Formats: sequence, structure tokens, C-alpha cells
Amino acid sequence: MFADVVLNEFSRNIDRILTYRVPDDINNLKIGSRVLVPVNKSFVEGYAINLSEKIEIPIEKVKPIMRVLDDFTVFDEKLLNLAIWMRDYYKCNLSESLQCIIPSGIKNGIKKVKKVTLNKGYLDDASITPRQFEILNYLKDNGTVLLSDLVKDLNISYSTVNSLARKGIICVYYDEVNRLKMSDYKKTDKLIPTKEQEFVINEVKHSIGRNVFEKYLLFGVTGSGKTEVYLQLIEKCIEEGKESIVLVPEISLTPQTIERFISRFGNLVAVLHSGLSDGERFDEWRRIKNGEVKVVVGVRNAIFAPFSNIGLIIIDEEHENTYKQSDFKPKYNVKEVAEKRCEIEKAVLLLGSATPQIESYYKALRNEYKLLKLKERIGLELPEVDVVNMSRELADGNNSIFSRKLYKEIRENLMKGEQTILFLNRRGYSSFVMCRDCGYVPECPNCDISLTFHADESKLRCHYCGYNINTVYVCPKCGSRRVRYLGIGTERVEKEVKKLFPRSRVLRMDIDTTKTKGAHEKIFNEFKNGHADILIGTQMISKGFDIPNVTLVGVILADVTLNIPDFRSGERTFQLLTQVAGRAGRGSKPGRVIIQTYEEDNYSIVSAKNQDYESFYNEEIRYREIYMYPPFTHLLNIVVSGPIKNDVVTCAASVYNLIYKTINKSVKKSYNKILGPSSAPIERIKNNYRWQIIIKSSERGILQDVCDVLNTLKLHKGIKISFDLDPLNLI
Ligand code: ADP
Ligand code: ZN
Ligand code: ZN
Repeated sequence: MFADVVLNEFSRNIDRILTYRVPDDINNLKIGSRVLVPVNKSFVEGYAINLSEKIEIPIEKVKPIMRVLDDFTVFDEKLLNLAIWMRDYYKCNLSESLQCIIPSGIKNGIKKVKKVTLNKGYLDDASITPRQFEILNYLKDNGTVLLSDLVKDLNISYSTVNSLARKGIICVYYDEVNRLKMSDYKKTDKLIPTKEQEFVINEVKHSIGRNVFEKYLLFGVTGSGKTEVYLQLIEKCIEEGKESIVLVPEISLTPQTIERFISRFGNLVAVLHSGLSDGERFDEWRRIKNGEVKVVVGVRNAIFAPFSNIGLIIIDEEHENTYKQSDFKPKYNVKEVAEKRCEIEKAVLLLGSATPQIESYYKALRNEYKLLKLKERIGLELPEVDVVNMSRELADGNNSIFSRKLYKEIRENLMKGEQTILFLNRRGYSSFVMCRDCGYVPECPNCDISLTFHADESKLRCHYCGYNINTVYVCPKCGSRRVRYLGIGTERVEKEVKKLFPRSRVLRMDIDTTKTKGAHEKIFNEFKNGHADILIGTQMISKGFDIPNVTLVGVILADVTLNIPDFRSGERTFQLLTQVAGRAGRGSKPGRVIIQTYEEDNYSIVSAKNQDYESFYNEEIRYREIYMYPPFTHLLNIVVSGPIKNDVVTCAASVYNLIYKTINKSVKKSYNKILGPSSAPIERIKNNYRWQIIIKSSERGILQDVCDVLNTLKLHKGIKISFDLDPLNLI
């Protein structure tokens, strides 16, 4: 027999797929086996992707496979097909897309430990020593134990144990261990669905039962019971002997959601999050592969869970940016991968959101997704939202960061003993420092961006590379003492709150306060348990929080996200405001939301105030069509970078010419536009200059052709080209 093996190499632009002979003594090779094969004079790891009885090349030229590395396969044919699709769709190598599927801890292997147990029917043997007698008693009391525990607890030697084993009285053996401890959980029962929920559940259940590939978008306001819908659909899958995958944007941000899955399905659930060690991740992967798990809840890469009979894939908060992998190849969007996996598995895809991504809603309106709606919050009203114009506050002589209205509401909430969330999507104290006399702004020497002031450590910090210096009080350029701190961040809000409400108990949640493991949960629990009155935070607090005593949400400045130079900034602002507002009034008391802004009339803010997704969508889709942005086009973002500016600019220019030729060669009738080359919004990051070319095209295929050209380019030393097809972020 022969096997095609794709070599596991990442430094290459093109895969190497070589054919090997399967020697007679190897009998466990299958598609998906990890193997060691000879290449030139060394050995390389690879994966078997095709088996055949006959080959075209002369047999003498075919070398044998050296070894099969595991006693299990790392993927089956369906996952292999998914990886092949990713290679072609995202224009990467097969070895790169397979890398997404293979569990990162595979090299650590299965962890085995020695265990000791009493042999059944052993004879009370008169010849045993008193020490050995102690061992027998210990095992009678404790059952099967770890050898290491036994030796430690009784303070005995291994040889004492071994001699007892030789007599056949006890047995010492290797066993697989799972590095994860199962946590305790309280079991919860399913709720009786509301009319709206019931309709949705029945519709999707019907598709699950028919084993067909179907796509749904569940558009349901915050608190309308989407999670309960998910739970009941998963239950249906379990009844049918099928598996489910649930994707969430980030595990640590949604502790309550995760709890609900575990409390409903217990040990049938595996939670895959970034906090797992490679070993723990691998153990979970084994549990899934062995069929012990029926539900996987996880972030993006949980989509590759090694299930073989999937019934349902759910993507919660489908509008979130974390569903796109944008750091390295393949830059995939998990919504597309999930859709493909469902097609391969004949399963149901269910996207859920209170603020669907514009592209998703567009698809739903064109019947590419079936649209399902949950319009009512369960048992409560949507909160009342007010917008305060901060220019008017300033004109009236109020230059505090709090409008009079927000100030008054916070005070009243404190008096009533109810909790408040204050949201600002910028961390630090002030966004930058400026000399009033000469206009000097301290910048990072490695990145073209101003440094952010952090008061609690008296430092100016770069948020891109971590570079920091001590705070300046005297302008290093002109010597003036009139150095001012402008713009606000969460740290500044905290200080102002403490100044204005000295007796309030305040917590802050942002990247700076959640660096240590478990810090996020600690702050969350403290707030949930009522140990604080006010929680200040960045977008970390915008989702998943379900705290009944929170009745007031204040948005300190909505303009922060609105002013980011990206065509999606309006959409991001609307989503964030809606999500944050959804945190208010989740208990029996009604909620209030106050949004502060300088751009009262902006449609993102007006629609957020009215909690009117449809009108936001109508406005936004019009603008997307006029300017030919997605969903009317696809984008390709190309970044040329390197340490020498001249080389970068020259390379960007020649890349432009190549693109121009490629696009003009295309016979497809299409809309195409090349923007740039120009310096990226942040021209330099970590001492690398960055130039950017953005292509808009109505034909994704044309952009894929451009990627093929980019993948085969020979580059000058030090120059890098990266590309992102359908990027979510253009900075
Ligand atoms: P969403 O996921 O849409 O934000 P949730 O599923 O979290 O909504 O539901 C909001 C609240 O309503 C939760 O506290 C949940 O327990 C409760 N809930 C959901 N469905 C029902 C139901 N059918 N009956 C009673 N309470 C429900
Ligand atoms: Zn100065
Ligand atoms: Zn920097």
C-alpha cells in the first residue's frame, strides 16, 4: 500500500505532498495518521491524507514510512475535507489549515500514571510483613489509588509495594489520566418555553430531525431567552445521538453562560478555552474523540472539535470580531468554517445575536439564512435610554466628565442601594499628553502612536508594544510646565467617581486590572455579590453580565468607537451601545441607560437610543452600497512591512503593479477598486514600517487570484507581505 503524506512545514509557501510506501509491519496507518517520513537525509513529521494500492511513479523511487506516531488518527476524512476547503478558500497551505485541526498538546501525548489496586480474590498470605500489611489495609480503605500517593502516605519504599505485587496480592498498572478535574455543578432543569421560544425551537428541531444542512439567524433582543433556546436544541441533539458545538466570543467574559451549559448537561460538556494548558486541551480532545462528550462549548477553534456526528453548531453573539482569526494564516472566519462543516456533516447552523452583523442580516433578508426572531425580553421591559449632548453641558458651564443627568442618576442609585455600570471603551487615565505651549505629544519610539498616561503607576505607556517611560511634568522639547492630560480612559473615570462619591465602593475592569489569572472572575463575583456599587469597564463588561441589581448603565463617551477610522465603526458603536444597554434592568426593577456623546444626531447613536436595529440596518446598508463596502464587495487588505522605509515603499509599489495586471487579466465582469498604496493608519509598529493596499471587488475569486500571486512572490530580505481576505479590521 502507498500513502500520500503532507509534510508539516511552515516556512514554505507551497505544500510538499509526497508519496511513501507503507511497509508490511505497519498495520495501523489510516487517513489522518501522524507519521514520521524520510525526506532527503532527515526525518519529517507529516499526515497521511490519501491511501492507494497503485502509484504512477517507479516503486524503487518510493521510500517507506518510518513510523506511525500515535495509536489514534488526528483527523477523519470529513475534517480533512474541511482543511482542504480552508486551503482553497483562504489561500493558505494545507499544512497550515490542518494545524488548526490538530490539538496543540498532541506532542505531550497521553499522560499515564501508575495505579495500585487489590487483586480480587487474593489470599490472606501469612508470609507478608507488617509493612505490607499496612498496604493491604490502606487499599481496603481507599480502593484503587495512585502509586505515588500510596508511597507518600505510608512512607514506604517502591520495593515493598513491588514484592507484594509479585506475590499476586496487589496489581500495579499504568492508566491514562485526565489532567482536568471535573468541577461540581448544580443540575438545572429546562424552562417551559414562551410562545416565541417555542416557535423557534420547533422550527430548528424539525431541521435537526431531518438530517439536513440548514442555516438560521436568530435575531433576539438581549434577555429574550436565546440561551434557553440553545439549551433545548442541544438536548434534542443528545436525544438523537448527535453532537453539538457552541461557540462563544470569549469564555472568561461569559462565566454565567458557561455555567448554564454545564448545569444542564454536566459531564457531557467539554469547555475549551484559552486558559487550558496544552496537556489539558489534549485530554479534552481525547474525551471528545472517544465519544465521552456530546457538547463542546468554546471559543473559535472549538469548531474543529473531533466529533463525527454533528447535529448542530451554534454561534452566539455572531457579530463579535473574535470569530475572525486575524493574526496568522489561515485568517479564517469561523462563521464560514462552521457553515462549511455543517454542509459536510448535514447539520444545522444557528447564528444568534441581538445586533446581527450587517452582512448576516443582509443574507437573512435574501433568504440565504432563515430568519428567526425573539422580540420580547422575558418578564421585563427593555431599559429606557437617554442621550445627553456633552457640548451642551460644556456650554452650560459643566466641564466634568459626567453630565448633570448622569451625576444625579448615579447619586440616586447609590442612595437606593442599586448598582451602576459605567462604560468607556478606552483604558488608561487620559488618551494622550500634550504640551500647551509647543504642542509636543510624547510618542512611542517604536510605533507611530502617542503614549497613554496611566496614573496608578505614573507612567506613559504604548498600548501596541508595551514601551513605557515615567510621566513627564516638564515638556522635554520646550521646557514648559504647562503639560496637560487630554482625553479620558477608565482609570480617570474611576478617579473622578471616587472624588465625587467618596463613600461609594468602586471596581474597575479593563486589560490593566485583569492581567492575572482569575482576576476577571474575582471582580465579576465581587460585583455580582453586591460588594461594590459601581463597576467601571471597557467592552469587557458589555456582554454576558446578568446581574439583577444593576439598574443604571452610563456610557461615558460613545464617540470613542465612533471615531475609529474604519468603515465598520458605526456598526461597532451601535452593537456596543446596545449590548451595554442590555446589562441594565435584568431583574425585577426597570433599567435606565444614559449615553453621553458629542454626536447626538449620529444614526448609530439615535438607533441605539431607540433600540431599533432595523432602522440602524437600513441606514447602514444604504451607506455600504453607496461606498461599495461589504456585503456589496469583498475586501482584501494587504500590508507590506519591514524595517527600512524605502524598501517597504518600493515593494508596495511593485505589488500594486502586479495586482493591477492580475485584476485586468480577469475575464470576469466585476467592480474592482484598488486603494493605495499608502501608509497604514499606524505607520510603524515595533520598528516595522507598514504600507497598505486595500482592494475592493464584487468577485471574491479575483481577490483569491491576487492572493495566489502574493503567495509566490520573491521578496527582498526583511520585507514581509501579509494579506487578509474579508478582514474585519483595517488598521
Ligand atoms: P439571552 O441569551 O437572549 O440574553 P437568556 O437566555 O439569558 O437570554 O434569558 C434571559 C433570562 O430569562 C434568563 O435569566 C433566563 O433564565 C430567563 N428565561 C429564559 N427563558 C425562559 C423561560 N422560558 N421561562 C422563564 N425564564 C426564562
Ligand atoms: Zn513644549
Ligand atoms: Zn510602541
